[in-house]
Amino acid sequence: MLRDSRGTLPSPNSVALQLMRLVERDDVGVFEVCRVARGDPVLVGKAVQLANSALYAGLRPTAAIEDAVMRIGVAALARLAVGLSLVHSHGTRLGNLELELFWRRSLARGLVLQQLARRRHALPVSEAFSLGLLADIGQLGMLAALGPDALGDPAQDDPLAWQRQRWGFDQTEVGGALLQTWNFPRRLWQALLPPGSAPDASAELSSMVEVARSLAAALDARRALRELPGLCMGALRLGLDEAALLGMLDQLHEDFAQLAAILQLQVSQQQAQQEFQSLRERLGSAPAQFDAQPATVLLAGPLASGRADLQQALRDEGWNVVVEPDLAAGFEHARASLPDAVVLDAEHLPMPPEELCRSWREHESARLYLLLLAERLDGEQQLLALRAGANDVLPASTPGELVVARLRPGIRMVRLIHALERERAQAHGRQRELAALNARLREAAYSDELTGLPNRRALDEFLARSWEHALAHDLALSCVLLDLDHFKSINDTHGHDTGDRVLRAVARALQEHCRGDDLLARWGGEELVLVCPGVEPGAAAAVAERMRSAVQQLGGGLPAVTLSGGVAGAAREHPDSVGAMMRAADQALLRAKREGRNRIVLAEAEDGSAAA
Ligand code: GH3
Ligand code: MG
Ligand code: MG
Repeated sequence: MLRDSRGTLPSPNSVALQLMRLVERDDVGVFEVCRVARGDPVLVGKAVQLANSALYAGLRPTAAIEDAVMRIGVAALARLAVGLSLVHSHGTRLGNLELELFWRRSLARGLVLQQLARRRHALPVSEAFSLGLLADIGQLGMLAALGPDALGDPAQDDPLAWQRQRWGFDQTEVGGALLQTWNFPRRLWQALLPPGSAPDASAELSSMVEVARSLAAALDARRALRELPGLCMGALRLGLDEAALLGMLDQLHEDFAQLAAILQLQVSQQQAQQEFQSLRERLGSAPAQFDAQPATVLLAGPLASGRADLQQALRDEGWNVVVEPDLAAGFEHARASLPDAVVLDAEHLPMPPEELCRSWREHESARLYLLLLAERLDGEQQLLALRAGANDVLPASTPGELVVARLRPGIRMVRLIHALERERAQAHGRQRELAALNARLREAAYSDELTGLPNRRALDEFLARSWEHALAHDLALSCVLLDLDHFKSINDTHGHDTGDRVLRAVARALQEHCRGDDLLARWGGEELVLVCPGVEPGAAAAVAERMRSAVQQLGGGLPAVTLSGGVAGAAREHPDSVGAMMRAADQALLRAKREGRNRIVLAEAEDGSAAA
């Protein structure tokens, strides 16, 4: 589907693509790369500026593209060129995506990924920057190829799932495919895909991209609550605690303006300041309310539970300690009471540790810090367990204080995630309450309190809509004005409350004779209106006649009451047809009253005969 519309897909300029092809060759020299790069002076300018920017902080300034290429590296420069040439290549808006904002978030992603790369040494910084910058390029691809609704409603909880359902793929896969087309190395484009979709993808790189994505997205205050639990969980997987996240946020804030200027993005300083500040407050303050309660740590299995010094160190920290030498009982306990952290004996498990980690992550999601103690797990096995959701693996002999030191930031993060999830659930609940209240208010505004029938306002809107529909489809439209006979005397004789009960009973009886498209409304007082779209006045009169008869036979211990009605149809040639119809029905009702009540009268047509 995407391939058919290739012409409109995001596309780097030809210099960037030439550079990407050069990189494929082993024999290419700096001179050749610079010659090609000079074909795009704007690119050269930006590359030199980037080489002097916060990305390469600490190196002496350069003014030459040769220096910049040496500094950035040939391959990295080429991939940077792809990113740089795409910024602004699509105008200002694509679907409901504001592109200036899209690139601002992309820049934030690039800078965060670059910081992560620096910490984790997982890839060179300018590679990380380009990858972050392009991590959500799939959004542009989808919008360009599939139209403005390609991404789904941005407010929904899981737009990627929606996209997979609707299109069979999602924006991350499209992004991966685009990067692949532009000759990005496999390792890089695979990192954009959802976890698990590429078995040989680097879990570390995927987590880094995920953290960069959520941090950039969380800068939007409306998305923060949705993104933050995932962000914290991703950070935890990368061994980053809350302090490290805050440090990254501050560094991002510091670098952002300079890089935005190089990419020529419009950034309101005040708005950027606000975004960073509000995210900082959210990240920094949420756990405080939870810190009042002591954390609970479960020690499960013989290795963990046998450690008296560890138990003591945990208790010294003020935490509740639950000891379960039996692993099965430990799992039961963790399921039932959800501790903040579990220190688990990974040597005596009835299954491979990674299987257990995966199943715990599935059940308990992020709200658990999972630390494995192992004596004999080799590096490969430890890596498997970490990938499957363990937060840390330590030798079984690790001193108690050291275990506590590892658990402390982990537990804080788990609590932060917990707090954010609760805050989010509350916000969600408030939103639902508000929506329900709105619906109730709306209903109240359109219905009559005594009878529950639609009121005058609902009637007016229904009449206007029905008339438009009748005109458009050349259909009939009729109405019946109904009025209770001598109702005043019912009030006078039996009291107003009884009068009310009679009105309610009449409304219920009449409603039973309404058909699918009809509307029965209380016009006011003891007068009701029946609107019958698509029905000639003669047929409407027959319905009214059945209604009259039903009212006459009302029982239920209520005083007897009768009903008169006037019926009229809309004449299509009449300029004020709805008004004229209502006036004609009123005249007919008057005749029914004059002629003795308890009857239905059909309005006379303009030529004097009874309307048919
Ligand atoms: P007619 O056959 O000519 O229509 O006589 P009527 O007594 O029904 O007509 P009139 O318009 O003189 O009186 C209408 C009465 O309906 C007056 C008012 O007290 C009563 N009414 C209007 N709204 C309500 C209501 O909500 N509850 C009760 N109990 N009575 C109402
Ligand atoms: Mg009346
Ligand atoms: Mg009346």
